[in-house]
Amino acid sequence: MSESDLRRTIIELERSLDRERVLQDAIRRVALRALAVVSARVPALEGAVRDLTRAIESDPGDTAWLDRLSGQLADAVRSSDQRQDLAEGILEVVRRGLHGFEFLDSELDALNRASDRRDKTEIERTLGRLFLVLHDKCQKAMTEREELTEVVGEIWHRLEDVDTALSEDAARGQRARKSVSELHAGIAGDAEHIRDRVLHGNDLPTLRDEVSRGLDRMIERVTHFRDAQETELRVAEERNRALRSKGRSLEGQVQALRNRLEQARAEASRDGLTGLPNRNAFEQRLRALPGELISAGSASLLVWDIDHFKAINDQYGHSAGDKVLRAVAEILAEGVQTPDFVARYGGEEFVMIIHREPDAAHAHADTIRQAVDRLVVRAGNTRLKVTISAGLVGVDPTVTPEAIFDAADHALLQAKKHGRDRIERAGS
Ligand code: GH3
Ligand code: MG
Ligand code: MG
Repeated sequence: MSESDLRRTIIELERSLDRERVLQDAIRRVALRALAVVSARVPALEGAVRDLTRAIESDPGDTAWLDRLSGQLADAVRSSDQRQDLAEGILEVVRRGLHGFEFLDSELDALNRASDRRDKTEIERTLGRLFLVLHDKCQKAMTEREELTEVVGEIWHRLEDVDTALSEDAARGQRARKSVSELHAGIAGDAEHIRDRVLHGNDLPTLRDEVSRGLDRMIERVTHFRDAQETELRVAEERNRALRSKGRSLEGQVQALRNRLEQARAEASRDGLTGLPNRNAFEQRLRALPGELISAGSASLLVWDIDHFKAINDQYGHSAGDKVLRAVAEILAEGVQTPDFVARYGGEEFVMIIHREPDAAHAHADTIRQAVDRLVVRAGNTRLKVTISAGLVGVDPTVTPEAIFDAADHALLQAKKHGRDRIERAGS
């Protein structure tokens, strides 16, 4: 892994730390607002609410209070004279404050359903579940944050090690140059001395002695120089080896962490019930679409909605409804092949991008609609049949993604008005 890879990894890791921070801030804001609603409507709980509010405000990094919060909210709903109003007040705060955090989608859907049915017990239960999910997520976020911080720190150390190694290399280069010039000067001095002895020397035996001593000094100098260089080299090699092995273990750690982050990101773009991509993934896809189409090709967008789905829930229960959702999702998924795309938009609505002109897309979508018509889902002894409607629009790359979606959604409304179990085209 190169130095620039490491720096990029640090930036990515720090970005995901930011995402966790945004989530924790949103949860704290929602909690404070929900408590304000409680305290305004249930005077008896004012003291307990104040304590909890203080706990939330005192240590922004700690989310231990989440444990107490859901109990407190449930108590409030139970002890209030206007239970329904209070539950809906809290629900509204939660819905507004946590909208857009995909991992809460199914909990928020459940809350909405409970609220649609004005079912107090169900609202209490689903609120409790939502806070449990939040609590879990916060704990996970905290562990993840600790791990991320640790790895970021280690990467910085590694970069510092690399910096130190580089400056040590430079210093070693300088030292080496200095000892080479010292060696040169020393040898030149020895040679000068020998020459002097040869020119001005006395008798031959003395001269031989002096020349021989001079040569010994030269050899000694060279040997000393070589030994010093070898020691320097050994030290540098040793340090590089240590640096490399430290780098390798860090690389492993960073890779494992990246895999986990990638998995978390993939989970954030999937719908838990059907396994299809979720609204978040769809919106990203739709935003990218005009750019893709400007260079080549055409595409159509469909917004699908199961007909009279509420009646299935009401008559056969939510788990039967969920079973139908999964079965329909499967048929829709079978109907598309890459680069076509299908996602659960929310509730019993799905969105689909087909890379064809509206006419061809319409014909293809109609075969999918007919496959849903043939679907039979078993719920106990009952065999459930469903139909589905859709609105279709050809994607004009010069129009905003929101306007494209609205056109398909409006066409869907027409399909419902015109009797359901059909696909209606925008503008027709
Ligand atoms: P229409 O034909 O006009 O679309 O009628 P509908 O009954 O399908 O539409 P409506 O919007 O009135 O009802 C949608 C229902 O879908 C309401 C909600 O309780 C239910 N729902 C949303 N998400 C889920 C889910 O995840 N599981 C189950 N079982 N029901 C869900
Ligand atoms: Mg609907
Ligand atoms: Mg519907």
